[in-house]
Amino acid sequence: MLRVMATTVYRACPLCEATCGIAITIDGDRVVSVRGDDADPFSRGYVCPKAAALADLHHDPDRLQRPVVRDGSAWRTVEWDEAFDLVARRLREIRVAHGNDAIAVYQGNPTAHNLGLMTYGQILLRTFRTRNMYSATSLDQLPHMLAALLMFGNQLLMAVPDIDRSDLFVCLGANPLASNGSIMTAPDMRRRLRAIRERGGRVVVIDPRRTETAARADRHLFLRPGTDAVLLLAMIETVFAERLVKTGRVPVSGVDELRRVAADWPAERAAPITGVAAADIRELARALATTPRAVLYGRIGVCTQEFGGLAAWLCYALNALTGHLDEPGGLMFTTPALDLLQVAPLLGYTNGFARWTSRVGRKPEFGGELPMTALAEEIETPGAGQIRALVTSAGNPVLSAPGGRRLERALASLDFMVSIDPYINATTRLAHVILPPASLLERSHYDAALNAFAVRNIAKYSPPTFERPAHARHDWEICLALWRRLGPASKLGPAARLVERVLRKLGPEAIIDLALRTGPHRLTLRRLRAAPHGLDLGPLEPRLPGRLDTPDATVHLAPREYVADVARLAARHASPPGGGLVLIGRRDLRSNNSWMHNSQRLVKGPPRCTLLIHPDDAASRGLADGALARLSTRAGAIELPVEITDTMMRGVVSVPHGWGHGRSGIRLQVATATPGQSVNDIIDPSVIDELSGTSALTGQPVDVAAT
Ligand code: SF4
Repeated sequence: MLRVMATTVYRACPLCEATCGIAITIDGDRVVSVRGDDADPFSRGYVCPKAAALADLHHDPDRLQRPVVRDGSAWRTVEWDEAFDLVARRLREIRVAHGNDAIAVYQGNPTAHNLGLMTYGQILLRTFRTRNMYSATSLDQLPHMLAALLMFGNQLLMAVPDIDRSDLFVCLGANPLASNGSIMTAPDMRRRLRAIRERGGRVVVIDPRRTETAARADRHLFLRPGTDAVLLLAMIETVFAERLVKTGRVPVSGVDELRRVAADWPAERAAPITGVAAADIRELARALATTPRAVLYGRIGVCTQEFGGLAAWLCYALNALTGHLDEPGGLMFTTPALDLLQVAPLLGYTNGFARWTSRVGRKPEFGGELPMTALAEEIETPGAGQIRALVTSAGNPVLSAPGGRRLERALASLDFMVSIDPYINATTRLAHVILPPASLLERSHYDAALNAFAVRNIAKYSPPTFERPAHARHDWEICLALWRRLGPASKLGPAARLVERVLRKLGPEAIIDLALRTGPHRLTLRRLRAAPHGLDLGPLEPRLPGRLDTPDATVHLAPREYVADVARLAARHASPPGGGLVLIGRRDLRSNNSWMHNSQRLVKGPPRCTLLIHPDDAASRGLADGALARLSTRAGAIELPVEITDTMMRGVVSVPHGWGHGRSGIRLQVATATPGQSVNDIIDPSVIDELSGTSALTGQPVDVAAT
């Protein structure tokens, strides 16, 4: 028999925001190994343990390859056209009977890593013209986008730390050693953080847990969950009081208003609320203001809390006030080869906030989407506009959204649900039809979204590693087939097939090529194909004021929405903090939300879905290390093994999210053997940031007791 020689191809890892270069060795249709690509100019050979699991995903026997239709609890495989026709017929019937808003859409986090879903996916999903659009945005980053909109004029104009030139990196509510950066595409954070210290700089981490990042920092300060906005106001007050404000060449407005707001929050008032000593608050503010190249980076813990809107605003404002916005080593705007701001409107994205509210809970829309905390109530509540059908794409909201038990009951009550997803997981098991896309290694890849948040300007195109089998369909082909049946093309009669054929021939590559050609670096796909390790397009450059989209071309330091919301913050902290425990999440390098738990190599070893608790809190509750504890809130209760550790702040416990694969009907052999519990089953979905509508996943009270 003829032996096929192993070959190595160079690609970008599509699993997380870091976009590491990978070298995949293949032998025929098998993946032999996945290693770091030493020649990738951005990641320089770094990969995390998840990269090797790409092989597990590709060869996973649980990965669906053909559409399936659910009859009760049984699934039967059907042909693609039968599935497309069924989905189109049911959605059309519901739309005709109940109107556009009766169809809801949920897009999960992997959408941002998926060229097909970023292009043709948007074309399909926005043809539904429904107000019931939902995504993971309102679970993890909406406040950052809101700040970009209100301060810089465009929700996609988020600034990133220029970490490779910074001499002081202040990291608030983030753990980049586990996440490899978020809204900061930066592979190999360990090397980048080490480099700061090697050039004489400092890393300071502020977090309720001494995280992996904090353990390698020069300084770690515990912060009481949910008090980030108070800490930031006190730092801003210090900067004003000590006359350290310098906004440099960046045009700003609202300085006096910000001074007035911050004046009520001196460090001495903030200290008992935040748990950070007043002297530390002032010292940190001074260091930030007087270090020429410094940056304050706030991420997930900053925005997934009751005052996430305020905290995200104040992070940007503090960088601007101390001269670190749009300056090397500070918080900078990127110049990506594909300019998202240019392309997004063409794909149906709109800028806007609170132009309308949800039907039931009166929660504000953002960018045409409603917050996830509105989804269950919009399904459950009868009346005009009630959701009757749901289209999910690359998402598992039953595990990733708060109130998971309530949400799964709501999903089970839908007239129709279709999921574009390769797995029967906690969410898709409730669908009537699942349309599984081809494997990640069978599709092409370009990081249209994540390159826009990279700490260097980079570009890389990855062609498919394997041809997709004839029986499989790419995500974008699935979207196109549904669009032909449901979108404007459906009115063309037989000509619709011709339109679909033309668009299929073009594929997402045509859109990317056009966007690259008209982008700031005037690249082409051809040029990228000739550079398999990717192109380094240079360091971040100052972009202001030209990049601003505000009417007066200034950075708005005190938008009225935020200024008004400070009264809510003051009311919350009018009395001293209570004495109970509060809950925070945590990220693990070997996990990726809910969807990497079917890889044995990633889940092996000690259980990761555990409760971290400070020794004093464990002792006062009679908890022993390794024993089971019961966690209960208004929303429900779960039981988890205890890990006692002084890395936790007193009064705070931590549980990771994305687990809970023990629900009936899930078809993930490895994940169901190591199911864990879903922390979202006990997170109360009614607790939100009232300004932005974002879920308050962090800082909710929890009772912990021995079982
Ligand atoms: S850090 Fe992210 S991009 Fe890099 S190898 Fe790991 S999963 Fe892939």
